[in-house]
Amino acid sequence: MWVDDEELKDFLKGREVDRKRLYCNWCKQETNHEVKGQHVVIFNAPGEMQEVLIYRLWICRGCERGLLEQEYLNEVMGEDEEDLEYFPKRSRSAFAPKSYSKLRSELTAIYREALTCYNEHAFILCTAGLRALLEGICQDKRIKGRNLKAKIDGLKAILPNKNIIRNLHHFRFMGNEAVHELAAPKPDELALAIGVIEDLLNFLYEMDYKASRLRELRRSNGPKRTKSNKAESATVTLAPNP
Ligand SMILES: [Zn+2]
Repeated sequence: MWVDDEELKDFLKGREVDRKRLYCNWCKQETNHEVKGQHVVIFNAPGEMQEVLIYRLWICRGCERGLLEQEYLNEVMGEDEEDLEYFPKRSRSAFAPKSYSKLRSELTAIYREALTCYNEHAFILCTAGLRALLEGICQDKRIKGRNLKAKIDGLKAILPNKNIIRNLHHFRFMGNEAVHELAAPKPDELALAIGVIEDLLNFLYEMDYKASRLRELRRSNGPKRTKSNKAESATVTLAPNP
């Protein structure tokens, strides 16, 4: 395909794009993305196959999350052949962690790890994480009970929305089995459970919509001021990997 550097440069120039529609893990749909920068690596050793790696940083026009695209090309690939990889992986079923303004950092860590386990298909550990999170929430709210089932019932005292409790009881794995008896629940069931626990977190610890959506960042030029004044670490906390 390419014989000299000039031809290769022309070929690469022709492939340049600054806008495209990609699935956004955070927006949970295909959205317009804008390219913010790219880096091209050319492997062009004499006598060897010419290969190219292109890295592009895409930003979602909806939520402003970043996405790294790696495109691989070589001289024998067909015109329509594409070898694209995305980091983080595009996943229509992946959960992006939300921000809860009043959730203690220890519980936030468990919540995020449980979601990471789900996204990486470690369903047993995700289940254990969700249970640990529920235990932690009950402890945080000083709800007592012989076992997790009783504690979930105990949440009634602080929760006007009884649906959440009813839903939590629906998940067998939230019941009374010891952790060593945990069997992997079906991913669908686990996804529903994550949704219910997020409802609970939202109710008890208030989802920080602004932080979760990063809308404010669009309007501000510099780092956001926070109460703790640690703008940089706040940005890191507010922008977890989807
Ligand atoms: Zn998005």
